[in-house]
Amino acid sequence: MDLFEHQGKELFARYGLPVPTGEVAYSPDDAVAAAQRLGVPVVVKAQVHTGGRGKAGGVKLAADLDAVRSHAAGILGLDISGHIVRRLWIEQASDIAEEYYASFTLDRSARKHLGMLSAEGGVDIETVAARDPDAIARIHIDPVDGLTQPACRQWVQAARIPGAVADVVADVLVTLYGAYVDADADLVEVNPLIVTSGGDVVLLDSKVTLDANSTFRHDDYAQYEATQTRDEREQAAHSKRLQYVGLDGSVGVIANGAGLAMSTVDVVNQVGGSPANFLDIGGGANAEVMAGALEVINNDPAVRAILINIFGGITRGEEIAAGIIEATRRVDIDSPIVIRLDGTNAAEGRELLEPHLGGALMMEPTMLDAARRAVELAGAAGGQVQP
Ligand code: GDP
Ligand code: MN
Repeated sequence: MDLFEHQGKELFARYGLPVPTGEVAYSPDDAVAAAQRLGVPVVVKAQVHTGGRGKAGGVKLAADLDAVRSHAAGILGLDISGHIVRRLWIEQASDIAEEYYASFTLDRSARKHLGMLSAEGGVDIETVAARDPDAIARIHIDPVDGLTQPACRQWVQAARIPGAVADVVADVLVTLYGAYVDADADLVEVNPLIVTSGGDVVLLDSKVTLDANSTFRHDDYAQYEATQTRDEREQAAHSKRLQYVGLDGSVGVIANGAGLAMSTVDVVNQVGGSPANFLDIGGGANAEVMAGALEVINNDPAVRAILINIFGGITRGEEIAAGIIEATRRVDIDSPIVIRLDGTNAAEGRELLEPHLGGALMMEPTMLDAARRAVELAGAAGGQVQP
């Protein structure tokens, strides 16, 4: 789950991290009222789930209330990398002396957390990495030990953070790491982490991604759920409680179990096709779930053929078959459907499907055969088949 900048800052503040004071606004009037309460100068900031807002004109300093109004009006409705601005964050302006970069994320291959820190913040960190890789200090943190004070001090030194603020920056980073772990975040990124002209260390920006699987232990995460930006397909699938990820291809994929669904996506690629999605209908899926899944896939205009790959364990073959038949009754399926049905009660399922085969519904004996057929059909129907 991606947080807006202000949600990230509000989360940081709950852990005692220093962030500027601000208010959310949805209109120029809101923005002016907020600026009156906060006191000018303020910064008017677009709240979208993407970075590079400053360069796109989504972050503006306002010295007086007239400027707040005009900047708010200018930024609302702005398209930043495909994200339309509907929400603003009005924040007391900071006087910046230094801009640093700091982040924590999980390094899966190292099986450790990874901290990155640079004294050259404020700009794109990829640019810094390309220009001078040594300007970014990395630290691997064992999740059991955590980020210790001595290790953090060394890291801060390696990043060439000036001695005058090194201790304060180290303290902030230890707290930020604690917040990252406690909040079940996959990523926290602060760019820039600033030193003000008065010598205070402040987190001026935030990019926070939370692990959606941790919502059960954070009652307040429901609020972030409501502000997620999903594409239409993902929204529809989510409302049906399906595990769905939208992709760019033309073969709609339905499978039971995340492992089989991923393998199916791989096999579609292997035989020269491109999957339109990943969709796991889960274990023990019934007719209702299968019908819902087919509806979601069918509503994707890029889909040219549908591949249903089921290996029944808890999921029973006749339930799947009934679901497919039910779905074809309920909705006009625009694409041919290729089915591979195996496992528990596969024979019963195939028997149910038999009278419906021919035409747009077909069955293949193996996963590979089914993938080949679906890819061929997607190609024949004008879908994009990669060489
Ligand atoms: P991003 O472009 O999406 O990363 O948005 P940021 O929140 O990082 O803002 C972009 C840039 O605007 C920062 O790197 C700062 O240089 C500048 N900026 C943001 N807030 C302030 C502020 O309070 N005062 C000043 N002087 N500049 C700011
Ligand atoms: Mn930034």
